[in-house]
Amino acid sequence: MDKGEQLYEGKAKKLYATKDPDVLLQEFKDDATAFDATKRGTIVEKGIVNNKISAVLFQLLETKGVETHFLKSIDERHMLVKKVKIVPIEVTIRNIVAGGMSKMLGLEEGIVLKEPVLEYHYKDDALHDPLFNEYHIKALKLCTEKELETIKLRSFEINNILKHFFLERKIDLVDFKLEFGRYKGKIILADEISPDTCRFWEKGTKRKLDKDRFRRDLGDVEQAYQEMLNIVENKK
Ligand code: 5GP
Repeated sequence: MDKGEQLYEGKAKKLYATKDPDVLLQEFKDDATAFDATKRGTIVEKGIVNNKISAVLFQLLETKGVETHFLKSIDERHMLVKKVKIVPIEVTIRNIVAGGMSKMLGLEEGIVLKEPVLEYHYKDDALHDPLFNEYHIKALKLCTEKELETIKLRSFEINNILKHFFLERKIDLVDFKLEFGRYKGKIILADEISPDTCRFWEKGTKRKLDKDRFRRDLGDVEQAYQEMLNIVENKK
């Protein structure tokens, strides 16, 4: 494996240089954190599951014309990705009320939204990724107006593609978080798409199959991650 210098270690992933300056090796860890890393733990084989699920979903998006940083799966925990400069904005799309939106607006979890809600959060752990809006983004020059339009457009496209994909598998895509990066002058999707970054509810029963099982001490965390992998890989 072409594993050079470690360039970055985040809460769930590490990035390594490769011989190609435009390509990084992304490694998925089993470490789990929640509530701004005040809660820490391990979800056994989470890295393997998230690597595999992300690979399938990135490839699905590529076939539908959404450019991502994904290049190639290497092994159970590693994928090659394009080296992007991450835009410090976390985009959240919500189809059903849960988590942060339920708390912020005093709404019951499970309300199906008439149309998807897009939120921008400033990517800054120390500030707890605060909610902000397009005016903040433009005033702070975090990206250009054109880049922001692309980010918004792509986020809704991704939601349509993923919502449909999961509905066919009897899973409600409740909400998810995306991160984008700049690569050779273009905005492309980066980071990961996994049970760490999405809320997945079994259709009908609303059984949670995502990181909320860890956040809320619901038990069967590993089983839920493995179940989502089987669903994504059509083994269920
Ligand atoms: P909420 O704002 O309700 O906490 O999160 C909305 C969605 O985005 C959830 O699916 C959650 O997993 C994801 N999300 C938001 N912020 C983060 C983050 O900092 N890290 C990860 N892994 N997921 C996030």
